[in-house]
Amino acid sequence: MREVAKVASIIPGNIRMETLIKKTAEYIASSKYAVALTGAGISVESGIPPFRGKGGLWEKFDPMEFAHIDAFMNNPKKVWEMFMREMKGMLVESKPNDAHLGLARLEELGILKTIITQNVDGLHQSAGSKDVIEFHGNFAWLRCLECGHRCQTVDINLDHIPPRCDCGGIYRPDCVFFGEGIPPNELDRSQQAASQCDLMLVIGTSAIVQPSAFMPVIAKQSGATIIEINPEPTPLTGTTSTLLVQEKAGKAMRQIITEVERLLPGKK
Ligand code: NAD
Ligand code: ZN
Repeated sequence: MREVAKVASIIPGNIRMETLIKKTAEYIASSKYAVALTGAGISVESGIPPFRGKGGLWEKFDPMEFAHIDAFMNNPKKVWEMFMREMKGMLVESKPNDAHLGLARLEELGILKTIITQNVDGLHQSAGSKDVIEFHGNFAWLRCLECGHRCQTVDINLDHIPPRCDCGGIYRPDCVFFGEGIPPNELDRSQQAASQCDLMLVIGTSAIVQPSAFMPVIAKQSGATIIEINPEPTPLTGTTSTLLVQEKAGKAMRQIITEVERLLPGKK
């Protein structure tokens, strides 16, 4: 209820979606250094469910039972069987949507400098984005717990679970489980990007998981404008963010990019 009231104060009834899209495009077109922070919501239209909320993975899986490092180390077979097999299937099938493609276009236009993503699906890179900080690693790669050998997840045969390296060690995904720290290099680069940007687009993240949720706060404290694209309000709404485009990411970005291209006709 508290959050709904805040949203109402930023989006009065007379500010329509069209106006929000235009305002967002204006901020983007005049930005010199934009950064995006993305979460599971940006990949929903690509068929990958988020963790929280309606249809989220947590409706099926208890996070502590499947996505905590202790759970994996105690019973890798169970975590591979129940959770990661399904993840692998989804990630292999998925394709970038208009939100991923829109961010790649903004990078191409020289406006967006960096994407900080909490996602492990690699869809930003598939869309063509070059500078992507993967805060939680990437599920596309696996790493042997014994010898550290890395291999691609698509190349792994899941007839035998858990999958094993030639040395006999068990493979784990190269992503960050709950209970593990963020790789220091990724954390440093993210904090630097957040403090340098004049605009941060926060797309499809519930802004609950730390320390990634703190990046918009750093950006705001450094003078940046924060714009959220999310069908639902978040704890940032009305406190840290200036606008909430309350819409699905792909649908909103498609319209935003059209408008940005209209505002910057000289740019190819
Ligand atoms: P989350 O699951 O906590 O929340 C998802 C957010 O996306 C919600 O705020 C929801 O309102 C919003 N959303 C739902 N549909 C949307 C749409 N079509 N467009 C825009 N927003 C939409 O996501 P999170 O905050 O990123 O969660 C954190 C953890 O989830 C991360 O650590 C990430 O590693 C992990 N995760 C990643 C993937 C992936 O790689 N695709 C998928 C599931 C979870
Ligand atoms: Zn090995």
